[in-house]
Amino acid sequence: MTRIAIIGGGVAAHTLVKSLLTARQEDADLTIDVFTTEEHPPYRRPEVNKGILLDGKSAADIALPGGIFETPGVTLHLGTRVTAVDAAAHTLTAGNTTHLFDQLVFATGAGPRLLEVEWLDGRDVHYVRTPEHSTALRDRLLGLTAE
Ligand SMILES: Cc1cc2nc3c(=O)[nH]c(=O)nc-3n(C[C@H](O)[C@H](O)[C@H](O)COP(=O)(O)OP(=O)(O)OC[C@H]3O[C@@H](n4cnc5c(N)ncnc54)[C@H](O)[C@@H]3O)c2cc1C
Repeated sequence: MTRIAIIGGGVAAHTLVKSLLTARQEDADLTIDVFTTEEHPPYRRPEVNKGILLDGKSAADIALPGGIFETPGVTLHLGTRVTAVDAAAHTLTAGNTTHLFDQLVFATGAGPRLLEVEWLDGRDVHYVRTPEHSTALRDRLLGLTAE
């Protein structure tokens, strides 16, 4: 059996799972575990500042095809941060659980650099990276137009 672990639940992770499933032999004994801090299955991130912010879509509306996560042997661990990797022991830690892997992929992308400066205190500053960010900003802007 080959156990593949992927850290990250963005388009890179999604594309990799799709490719692995396409390339695998019919009888291959393969498991794929995808760990993502996000609460949503992989989605089209460019839609975060378009479909969600401008049109009020939801994370489900902008999801990438989720059928691959129904494939036997493929597990999507939502809301699960990987906090440690032991490359020698071939283990990773997510929450209180230790997972064994044969191959590990980092598809962790990037996050916004959070500004920690005094002049920001009390100001209404938003970051735009996730559906939650965009929804919060949209609600704030709609609130302003209603005021
Ligand atoms: C608002 C916005 C609009 C964009 N628009 C465009 C565009 O129009 N055209 C374009 O080409 N590009 C665009 N980009 C850039 C593009 O979206 C990124 O290049 C792309 O999302 C990168 O995909 P990724 O899978 O590598 O990483 P990401 O999308 O960053 O995904 C990484 C994932 O890893 C997870 N993760 C990180 N660390 C851990 C951990 N320790 N444990 C578990 N999970 C973890 C994160 O939660 C996240 O789900 C945009 C980006 C943003 C933010």
